[in-house]
Amino acid sequence: MPTRTPLMAGNWKMNLNHLEAIAHVQKLAFALTDKDYEAVEVAVLPPFTDLRSVQTLVDGDKLKIRYGAQDLSAHESGAYTGEISGAMLAKLNCTYVTIGHSERRQYHGEDEPVVNAKVKAALQHGLTPIVCVGEELSVREAGNHVGHTLAQVDGGLKDVPAESVASLVIAYEPVWAIGTGKVCGEEDAQEVCGAIRGRLAELYDEETAQRVRIQYGGSVKSGNVAKIMAQPDIDGALVGGASLDAEEFVKIVRFRD
Ligand code: PEP
Repeated sequence: MPTRTPLMAGNWKMNLNHLEAIAHVQKLAFALTDKDYEAVEVAVLPPFTDLRSVQTLVDGDKLKIRYGAQDLSAHESGAYTGEISGAMLAKLNCTYVTIGHSERRQYHGEDEPVVNAKVKAALQHGLTPIVCVGEELSVREAGNHVGHTLAQVDGGLKDVPAESVASLVIAYEPVWAIGTGKVCGEEDAQEVCGAIRGRLAELYDEETAQRVRIQYGGSVKSGNVAKIMAQPDIDGALVGGASLDAEEFVKIVRFRD
């Protein structure tokens, strides 16, 4: 069975300007050691305007922190005012890009066809998509959380070949747990993450399903991360609010301690 290196990614959302980004990454770089990087992959997902500063710091100091963007355009180039292309992110040496975050779905009307087009655009430029899926509270209360989330997986990955799927990341983020302080119980999170892996095995094959990393996201903190990471189908965390505090994010990275 393939081993999956946990991925701890900090989604800064619309926080930290490019100067604050430098200070923040410097704090992380100062605290994190080779031992941390051997055990866990660490990534930050700053706003677009910070990426060049983060790249300069990472390249200049040969940091092992990876970075990526919070979104990209489905289009290649041209008359799409305000959009950022996969090629632009690849040129900045981004590793990751989150796609279909619930805030993009909620405030920008992103649906499965949009997510699917963005996944393909990211892959075309060698970026690793972190495909975000997860149900709203009403869906969970109605007991449809697994079906709802699997439909998002199906739609987001439509016509994406197995060799591309194997390297990507899926983030299960129940919408009601994002930024609310309400954490999904670890067994509930495992139920959905296990179902996602099961669906990947159905859509592709067991080998592919075993290679995909599945993160949990939703009010992850140093105090709850260990229980979440103990679940067999959870391979990392997508961390919003808590990733803005460097000390707290380092504790999350060191979830085994
Ligand atoms: C997120 O932004 O993806 C997220 C999970 O946020 P928070 O950790 O603040 O709930």
